[in-house]
Amino acid sequence: MMQHTYDSLPGKPISLWLDTTPQTNFPSLADNLYVDVAIVGGGIVGLTAAALLKEQGKTVAVLEAKRIVEGVSGNTTAKITSLHTLIYAYLIQHFGKEKAQIYANANETAIQQIANFVQDKQIACEFRRTAAYTYAESDEEVDKIHDEVEAALKLGLPASFTEETPLPFPVKAAVRFDNQAQFHPRQYLLALARDIPGDGSHVFENTQVLDVSDDEPCVVTTNRGTIHAAAVIVASHFPFNDKVLYATRLKPHRSYVLAARLAEPVPQGMFITTDSSHTMRHHSGSDGEFLLVGGEGHVPGQDGDTIERYQRVEQWAREHFNVKSIVYRWSTQDNRSLDRLPYVGRYSPVSHHVYVAAGFGGWGMTNSMVAGMLLRDLILERENPWAEVYDPNRINLKSVPEFAKQSAQVAKHFVGDRLTVTDTVERGEGKILNTEDGVVAVYMAEDGSLSALSPACTHLGCFVQWNSAEKSWDCPCHGSRFATDGTVIHGPALKNLEKVNNSFIEG
Ligand SMILES: Cc1cc2nc3c(=O)[nH]c(=O)nc-3n(C[C@H](O)[C@H](O)[C@H](O)COP(=O)(O)OP(=O)(O)OC[C@H]3O[C@@H](n4cnc5c(N)ncnc54)[C@H](O)[C@@H]3O)c2cc1C
Repeated sequence: MMQHTYDSLPGKPISLWLDTTPQTNFPSLADNLYVDVAIVGGGIVGLTAAALLKEQGKTVAVLEAKRIVEGVSGNTTAKITSLHTLIYAYLIQHFGKEKAQIYANANETAIQQIANFVQDKQIACEFRRTAAYTYAESDEEVDKIHDEVEAALKLGLPASFTEETPLPFPVKAAVRFDNQAQFHPRQYLLALARDIPGDGSHVFENTQVLDVSDDEPCVVTTNRGTIHAAAVIVASHFPFNDKVLYATRLKPHRSYVLAARLAEPVPQGMFITTDSSHTMRHHSGSDGEFLLVGGEGHVPGQDGDTIERYQRVEQWAREHFNVKSIVYRWSTQDNRSLDRLPYVGRYSPVSHHVYVAAGFGGWGMTNSMVAGMLLRDLILERENPWAEVYDPNRINLKSVPEFAKQSAQVAKHFVGDRLTVTDTVERGEGKILNTEDGVVAVYMAEDGSLSALSPACTHLGCFVQWNSAEKSWDCPCHGSRFATDGTVIHGPALKNLEKVNNSFIEG
């Protein structure tokens, strides 16, 4: 395998979406104010909910800790499909046909609602209808394809069985869904965001929400002031104000994406393997045609060298396509729920006015629209047929073993990581060091300067681990991520890693 360091990895280290759109510049919250609905987080969930609620005459305030659409939604692969790898046979088996039907209907409705937004608002975002495929790489997986096609057809989904795909290599079999879609997620979301301010509604950036009270009105405390709101939606990706153990019901999963130019036609469509180990899609914009290739998923902060993960995605891409060059590389993470259904609805069983949307398991393009439509209806006190299936407070005994596994993983990282410490650090590298003053997360910059931090994640105290490919400290328990100076990059953590005196470390 090719040897790479951080600097020699191919491609610009930014998503194609972020590199081809302007940075936003919405104001920060300056005055205390009242809105009907305060929305925490300016990703696809928050902006979609805001757009839908404003359409119904509600005043909204989107409160974004950093800049909007720079989190997961600015780093996704943006396949808009109801074909979520293999899900319908599983849903029918575990929840019955009626609930599987609801999930199917909700996600197909979402594709159409995104298409309606694009058309009604005249959004130039490379939105195009295309087919989605989940394909089997081995004979053993062909039965899974048959089962999924059969389940999907029972639910009236646009599914078919095929052994032919537009990919330039043979597959054993595939589920094909027609009339799915893809887009440029930032072009789409920045257009939604532009329409939000005005008539009592707002988008605030660099405004971090610190606390939310479930009162009448709700009090939303930020680092810039206070907002009062009749209702609050927590759309912070991982619920930031975790009081009812979302930490044990969500598992972060990080993966790696390359945007490549090919020396052959880029296959049209969206593709994923049955085990989600690799995903691909076509993208064409004013900047030409690209193949996006993603893979190498793992729990952030766990399972080895992240530089090698980029290398393996590149190697896989070169083995399967005639790659001319790699233009971009990036990575991001999504959270999986225990039973594969997202959590959308009232935040806790005792919540009155606080709502949540989380746990999209890598399928947040359609599920964010489902979330937006469902939360809009709950807030407007309208019936919505999807509510029970997505209810975050559902009791599902089938997910108990997963709950136990996730809790055990978290417990392991509370205790075990304290023992895996080392004692040397190279330039451009971070390491957990065992010093006389205790365990310290140390980063040595290229110029030899050191930053020393407490390795205890400020969310719930697990020890962070070094991520060599992104130069960050990642928490293996709930996926919080921190820059080399300790600043929060990704929640649920709200506070930066604590700085410690580094005078005891030899430079
Ligand atoms: C590699 C990868 C590829 C993917 N590809 C696809 C795909 O092809 N199709 C698909 O359907 N899904 C895909 N997904 C999943 C999808 O991208 C996500 O589910 C979705 O983008 C999540 O959106 P979000 O709004 O919940 O999160 P985000 O976009 O991360 O938005 C949350 C926002 O909340 C802000 N925030 C956090 N805490 C606070 C706070 N305290 N105060 C204020 N703001 C706060 C953050 O800064 C962030 O901007 C993919 C995921 C990954 C990891």
